[in-house]
Amino acid sequence: MIDQIFPEALKILSNLVKFQTVSGASNLELIKYCEKKLDESGAKSFKTFNESGSQANLFSTINGKDNSNNKGIILSGHTDVVPAVPDEWTSDPYIAREEDNKIYGRGTCDMKGFIACTLAVAPLFASTKLKAPIHFSYTFDEETGCLGAPLVLADLKKRNINFSACIIGEPTSMKAITAHKGYNEYITHFTGLSGHASNPESGVNAIEYAIQYSNKLMELRDELKKRNSTKTSFSPSYSTLQIGKISGGIGANVIADQCSLEWEVRPINKDDGDFISKNIDDFAKNILLPEMKKNNPKGNINKEIIGEVVGFNKEETSEAVNLVCNLTGDNSKDTMSFGTEAGLFQNSGISTVICGPGSIEQAHTVDEYITYDQIKKCLKMLISLQEKMVN
Ligand SMILES: [Zn+2]
Repeated sequence: MIDQIFPEALKILSNLVKFQTVSGASNLELIKYCEKKLDESGAKSFKTFNESGSQANLFSTINGKDNSNNKGIILSGHTDVVPAVPDEWTSDPYIAREEDNKIYGRGTCDMKGFIACTLAVAPLFASTKLKAPIHFSYTFDEETGCLGAPLVLADLKKRNINFSACIIGEPTSMKAITAHKGYNEYITHFTGLSGHASNPESGVNAIEYAIQYSNKLMELRDELKKRNSTKTSFSPSYSTLQIGKISGGIGANVIADQCSLEWEVRPINKDDGDFISKNIDDFAKNILLPEMKKNNPKGNINKEIIGEVVGFNKEETSEAVNLVCNLTGDNSKDTMSFGTEAGLFQNSGISTVICGPGSIEQAHTVDEYITYDQIKKCLKMLISLQEKMVN
């Protein structure tokens, strides 16, 4: 079986790589391609779109026996990829290249490889009577804050469809991942008033306010460590906060009127994320801002939310985790530190697990690749799923 499906999966993956679906760009051509493939297997599809209509999520279903209402299984992947600088790559990032039992190209690992596997196995699902439906969910803009998935989930809720499990095929080297931290990213912009440095009080120094804000963030970061003394399976076991970039000012003798801070929080639970937001917002509004406005009514602090990805929490007994371990024959379970759509599916009441082909070490890298071995392992899991779903 796998000998027939494997070459098909490689061919599909090559086709998917050609669509330059960098986050924010249109993915409509790719969605059309996937929809056509699934249509050929008799799937029923519906789409949800972003506001401008330039991006779509595809949700397709291969129905079980008698169109039964049995709770089905979702195979989920995101269609967007991170940008690639072609000059840095050995070959064109958007033309798949096969070498040494690997396939290179942007998105091969994260995560068009998984999507290709699901499309390659779709005809097999369609060829038999299934006990319950198999659903395919392909979303847009996961990499920039999971913008697409909430639209699909809201739509599913309206349609009143029930599910037994969701497998998110992010690159985990085919290991079951049972939890990950949330991921909140912010840029805080400070607007002051420029002036000659010889009279600092004639202006409002945006950098100095940004430093006070940073100090408060670091104070809150220390609080985070104390908040969760019970041990978690994460590494590190507590919620973290980090300031990654600071920019502003033009020189030592000019009062800086602009400064911005880029920072992130990786909360182990929603409370920790809320704790940071509430405290830093209160500090900015009640302490810093009144002080800034004394010398300049236009002085301002604006916290821009780049993305807030909810965490994925370990379930006591998880139908999805049990299913995947059963299919792969690998009972090892792990947690990880990067964000996915898993928490969103979980919060919609769907038992969820992350398990997909490729190593996270190759995701987002120059010369990204996936090995043949990983693609075969994923196909084996999906073929086992089909066997399990047949009466
Ligand atoms: Zn991904």
